[in-house]
Amino acid sequence: MGKPTGFQEFNRELPAKVSPEERVKNYNEFVGLYTAEKLNQQSARCMNCGIPFCHSGCPLGNIIPEFNDAVYRKNWEEAYEILSSTNNFPEFTGRICPAPCESACVLGINKPAVAIEEIEKHIIEIAYERKLVQPMAPLVKTGKTVAVVGSGPAGLAAAAQLSKAGHSVTVYERDDRPGGLLRYGIPDFKLEKWVIDRRIQVMEAEGVQFICNTEVGKDISSEELVRKYDAVVLAGGSTIPRNLPIPGRELKGVYFAMEFLKQQNKRVSNTPFDAEDILVTGKDVVVIGGGDTGSDCVGTSNRQGAKSIRQFEVMMRPPESRTTAMPWPTYPMVLKTSSSHEEGCERHWGINTKEFLGDENGNLRALKVTDVVWETDFLGRPIKFSEVEGSERELPCQRVFLAMGFVHPQHIGMLEQLGVELDERKNVKAKEGAFRTNVSKVFACGDMRRGQSLVVWAISEGREAARKVDEFLMGHTLLESKEAVN
Ligand code: FAD
Repeated sequence: MGKPTGFQEFNRELPAKVSPEERVKNYNEFVGLYTAEKLNQQSARCMNCGIPFCHSGCPLGNIIPEFNDAVYRKNWEEAYEILSSTNNFPEFTGRICPAPCESACVLGINKPAVAIEEIEKHIIEIAYERKLVQPMAPLVKTGKTVAVVGSGPAGLAAAAQLSKAGHSVTVYERDDRPGGLLRYGIPDFKLEKWVIDRRIQVMEAEGVQFICNTEVGKDISSEELVRKYDAVVLAGGSTIPRNLPIPGRELKGVYFAMEFLKQQNKRVSNTPFDAEDILVTGKDVVVIGGGDTGSDCVGTSNRQGAKSIRQFEVMMRPPESRTTAMPWPTYPMVLKTSSSHEEGCERHWGINTKEFLGDENGNLRALKVTDVVWETDFLGRPIKFSEVEGSERELPCQRVFLAMGFVHPQHIGMLEQLGVELDERKNVKAKEGAFRTNVSKVFACGDMRRGQSLVVWAISEGREAARKVDEFLMGHTLLESKEAVN
């Protein structure tokens, strides 16, 4: 433990951010770094609890008190070694993870939690700066080949781990560059894309081969893949967005969030795209949906210079902080405010969109909405809503982004060709912990298996699936398991 009295001496502090007025002028990341002294103080706040709940709060089982201690002692090699033993990509999670570890931090019971996510980001950035992150080609090759379909965090983690185990790994990606939603979903202001490129370079130097612009099930058949490789890992994400099939859905101006976000990511990286420009400059924008995707539409709309931005959520407004009924500060029980909201956005809770209204040219001009109230069960959980009588009204807007989540992966093409069984939510059926589908030598992980989730879960699933593939190929595995940590 770094400093036994650290949690009493120092308050939680986060690195300075560029002001909202300045940062909306570009798409750059806007969170700064700690000074050496601040980093030391923040790591000193860790209490090194007898039972570190942060370990189990983290889907990767990150060994947090140990790396906090190493940071406090400024032993960067040790801090990096501990962190990278459970997390292949701390540069991603250190920037965009909602940090369930912090919700589990025991200090959080009566003081703000240790700034674990920021410390993680500093460890990996210092490690890169000091050239501690080096390609680690396996000492022995097994002669086995594995195809990974999809290069999001799940596919990348599976590929990195399988390569480490000595297998020859080829990643297939239908986009022009690897990264999945990290590249073409999450905006640059949360994650600049050189961060992904830097990691891909390390993986390529380790021997992982990336084949982009290739959709499995279309450009190469699923059968060929299964024939050619000793094992196949499906990590294609959950890509079918939830629709809002109400009158007027066909109007020009109503888009799925990903149409808007992907295009802007391509614009920022000077990558050509086929579709018509979706721009909100000078427009009244409504974002329907309150999660990460919705927040990213808000941040992007602010940067494009929207006239007004409103975000609708059909659920009632959650409390600002923990309540007596919910004393543990566990996200998502409390109101989640993203940095995009600081930049300007009117949030509306308990509102239902009934119709998109158009003008004579088929362009969106307004939304017809009503307020709603929720009926709750005995635990206070919402079960059913009803409209508030007399609350129906029209709200003028010219652009709507549907950010209501993703229902399941794409079935047409690869999954249908393979004949993989689906679960009741229409994701690929493969038991957690086994990651094996009904098709011989085919495994699945990440959002494609668990449904839409988080980057940290995708990395965790990729790592755990790699262990199962390694076991399948070799009869045993020496790859690390998060079970061993907790
Ligand atoms: P993906 O990242 O979706 O990658 C799947 C890849 O597979 C894609 O590149 C796709 O092109 C490729 N693919 C699919 N089918 C084929 C095929 N047949 N052949 C070849 N390639 C194929 N999570 C967080 O933790 N923090 C955040 O701030 C956050 N923000 C988000 C913002 C947005 C806008 C969205 C949409 C999601 C966000 N998430 C966030 C969720 C997170 O991005 C996902 O949970 C995560 O990326 C899932 O990883 P994955 O590897 O399973 O799939």
